[in-house]
Amino acid sequence: MRYVILRDDDTNALTPVECLERLYRPFLDRGMPVNLAVIPSVATSTTRPTGELEGFLFARNGACTETVSIGNNPALVRYLRENTGFRIVQHGFRHRYFEFDTDNAADASAWLEEGRRQLLSAGLPEPDAFVAPYDRYSAASLKECARRFRVISGGWYELRRLPRAWWPRYVWKKLRGEPHWRVGRTLLLSHPGCLLSCQRPYDSMLDNVIDAVRGGELTVLVTHWWEYFWKGRPNEAFIGRLHAVAEYLASQKDVRVISFSDLGA
Ligand SMILES: [Zn+2]
Repeated sequence: MRYVILRDDDTNALTPVECLERLYRPFLDRGMPVNLAVIPSVATSTTRPTGELEGFLFARNGACTETVSIGNNPALVRYLRENTGFRIVQHGFRHRYFEFDTDNAADASAWLEEGRRQLLSAGLPEPDAFVAPYDRYSAASLKECARRFRVISGGWYELRRLPRAWWPRYVWKKLRGEPHWRVGRTLLLSHPGCLLSCQRPYDSMLDNVIDAVRGGELTVLVTHWWEYFWKGRPNEAFIGRLHAVAEYLASQKDVRVISFSDLGA
């Protein structure tokens, strides 16, 4: 059996429900869980290095408070609670640029706690996996995450960004060529890049996903809902590619789509 985890990043208080519904209905209807990495209290003015506002803020409406908690969007929270195929993962705290690249363990710890508190007080279930904004961790923040989560999902790991005590394990994983590894009770997952990205050629997208799924025992597929609705307009061709992936995954007898919480169980 091969396992696939679908991870969609950046759901936040400003995410229109229709976007998630349009993208993920074919997954939910086929009983495939969708892991949403949810920003607990989104900062509304985060920009990329180019100066452009972050794509996941496209629905921001004129003047807005500096941060908006997920609980401030009851319609979205209700939708996520009603559709239990969505599994909630904590995605940073405010999703400021490289937020969890901090060397300050006390900051990382406070953001993790406050983020968790906001997800729970909104009425969402306890997240048991964590995704750092931009998949970027420092050694200090990784340590704080591992103290609280059984599953951490990242892109790849670099020795210099790991706590020193983890180095021998990391070297062992590298030598064995394993994408995923474990430190204590925490599982550290890698992914093969954002194969489902609007920046990638559409024609080879499904084949690349198939190669990744067939090439490993457990594959984390990462995507971003807002890329399918650039500045609010649905990108039909790209949405079609995502739905083709749903069809492929559902048709494979030896592939099971699971959630991060299935791993932590
Ligand atoms: Zn993100």
